[in-house]
Amino acid sequence: MNIVLLGAPGAGKGTQAQKLVAEYGVAHISTGDLLRAAVKAQSELGKQAKSYMDSGSLVPDELVIALVKERLESDDAQRGFILDGFPRNTSQAVSLDSALAAMDMSLDAALLVDVEPSVIVDRLSARRTCRSCGYTGTKDDEKCPRCNGEMYQRDDDKPETIQHRLDVYENQTAPLVEYYRGHGILKAVDGDRPVDEVYADVKEMLGL
Ligand code: AMP
Repeated sequence: MNIVLLGAPGAGKGTQAQKLVAEYGVAHISTGDLLRAAVKAQSELGKQAKSYMDSGSLVPDELVIALVKERLESDDAQRGFILDGFPRNTSQAVSLDSALAAMDMSLDAALLVDVEPSVIVDRLSARRTCRSCGYTGTKDDEKCPRCNGEMYQRDDDKPETIQHRLDVYENQTAPLVEYYRGHGILKAVDGDRPVDEVYADVKEMLGL
């Protein structure tokens, strides 16, 4: 199973990816998680990425593409992978295709988790993330239900940044829906429903 997850920030890509990983043991490659870890570790990549992330803009392609290529070459990705938050624009999608071809791999599906922008704003404003394990919850979670870690609000989930992230999605990422439709691998699920209903559809769409 080699899959790309598409959808606006807050559509539920990470949640669906976590469920697929738990059930099928594939690698979860979330560029947002990898970049946040680099910022936390204050690595060279983290220092370069931080200002873009804080403002809700995309980190330069060459940084993100190098990160994803390294991750795709690791052992656990050979059993299958779910890319979450990558590609974010056409140039990243083209780079992904050639990186996979060079490794004799290809994508099985690009799965769009489709949610209206008005729903997204509400969801992102209420979203809280675990500082220890990255679990995504809501402001009702006082502690992380998975590891009891501290829940916090990501800087880029604050109202002033959310609209910019949605604009970036519309202008740069949404065109990928047509890109993957053109490649004949686009599948879509309605993401504006309870998590388990969406997951049931995801599995059906992926033939699992
Ligand atoms: P996410 O957790 O996927 O919402 O990503 C959080 C932030 O990380 C984004 O707003 C971007 O600044 C950066 N980011 C994540 N993935 C990418 C990507 N594929 N290309 C460029 N920037 C990215």
